[in-house]
Amino acid sequence: MRLTDEVYVVGGGTSNAFGLSNDPDCHVYLVDGGDEMALIDCGIGQGDSIDRIVANVRAEGLDPSRITKLALTHYHMDHAGGAARVRERLGVDVVVPVDAAETLRTGDERAVALDAAKLAGLYPADYRFEPVEVAVEVRDGDRVTVGRLELEAIETPGHCDGHVSYLLRGRERTYLFSGDAVFSRGRVVMQTIHDCSIQKSAQSLAKLARLEFDALLPGHAAICLDGGPRHVALAHQVSQALLVPDKLDPGLIP
Ligand SMILES: [Zn+2]
Repeated sequence: MRLTDEVYVVGGGTSNAFGLSNDPDCHVYLVDGGDEMALIDCGIGQGDSIDRIVANVRAEGLDPSRITKLALTHYHMDHAGGAARVRERLGVDVVVPVDAAETLRTGDERAVALDAAKLAGLYPADYRFEPVEVAVEVRDGDRVTVGRLELEAIETPGHCDGHVSYLLRGRERTYLFSGDAVFSRGRVVMQTIHDCSIQKSAQSLAKLARLEFDALLPGHAAICLDGGPRHVALAHQVSQALLVPDKLDPGLIP
């Protein structure tokens, strides 16, 4: 699904997103930088999900062999579970937040709270987290080239540790890929898992509220091509009053 000349949505589950790939995939974005393209997050990779994502890229008239990078926002399975398969299939460099790198390399199910998520019934009991080879570890302010474009990593922990958002300054717009840090209408996802922190989330919201951008492209729920900062400001205002912003509808995340 083409959003602009530079950004497409090429994956996402049926019950929580656009039905472009399998549940419980998050929104999977494609950035087209000309010579190179990059995926932002890749979903869980169950069944034929990766095949569907690749087919969606082709259906847009784009050549999947131009995808050279997969940039992950964080290590939750609905965003990163399919990373090893995508790497195997497309030969991409996997770009991850520095604080998530070791966990992704080792496939540590406790670190990503997959044990808790299975107990909560969010993932099948027999689902396994496949470790993935990491090519690039990004810190705050690091830039990753995608052809003529650049993704700037912005560390935004809170939803979990090792979470980054990516800022993309395009030709006509600036895009913020916010992962699970903040959603439309100023909503957040705070979970009772070991590395979720309301305080860190508030700091990340303050950081995002200082950014100039147009489009808010989160990992779930509505996508906003313009006026993105309004949504972030809503969440920031609530956290500034020492409260937790509204939560995203539970049905929209796994
Ligand atoms: Zn998450």
